[in-house]
Amino acid sequence: MLGLVVGVDLGATNIRAALGGVESGILRRVEERTVQSESSDDVIQQFIRLIRTVSAGDLDKVKAIGIGSIGPLDCWRGVILNPPNVPFKNVYIVETLRDLFRVPVYLLNDCTTAALGEWIFGAGKGLKNLAYITLSSGVGGGVIVDNVLLIGKDGNAAEIGHMVIDFEGRLACNCGGRGHWEAYCSGAGIPKLAKYLVESRPANFHGTLTEDFVKRDELSPKPSSSWRGGGIRGLLSSSRRLAGLMR
Ligand SMILES: [Zn+2]
Repeated sequence: MLGLVVGVDLGATNIRAALGGVESGILRRVEERTVQSESSDDVIQQFIRLIRTVSAGDLDKVKAIGIGSIGPLDCWRGVILNPPNVPFKNVYIVETLRDLFRVPVYLLNDCTTAALGEWIFGAGKGLKNLAYITLSSGVGGGVIVDNVLLIGKDGNAAEIGHMVIDFEGRLACNCGGRGHWEAYCSGAGIPKLAKYLVESRPANFHGTLTEDFVKRDELSPKPSSSWRGGGIRGLLSSSRRLAGLMR
């Protein structure tokens, strides 16, 4: 049997780890809320704990660790720089894990790894070109061009959530910029967009679910079943109005 690997997916909201291999497939998974701390050490400790938990008695069979992380990153130096939707920054994750577990450790943008995963194992199998888009706490992307994974400067080629889609820059992105796609269409951005539209054009939303959720302050960026259900439904039912207003 070939060796096993551990994959860790660091998101702004959740962190997940899996143990598996090419032959065995995924053997175990663990998931918890991402630690919301300014200390990079707290983040590193969470990684270590999850890797130990998911590996359980098989730690000696683990041959490598792969990390897909929210960006921006410096993938060559193995550092998670300053992601906009979390309080921590400058996490020197690769060096720390490599020294501790004594195996190769690789860091890539989470959406880039997702694109790679779909290309090798999933919906993109056999394709020469593919684009992958994540709508989560933020907005991200991953791209394969002519059978090559697009990495870009320091691994940040596909930070598409920070492209300007609203040249008037009406909403601020958590990265500090204005008018970015992520500020309008992500888990953290959709509630802000709804609030902005309802408050700036109240007549257009009179009597809609969107208005109701904004008034009750239930379009929270924190995950809750209420806004994921009714809030999103309300926004979609108002989509024609949204498209007209944002033009
Ligand atoms: Zn941004």
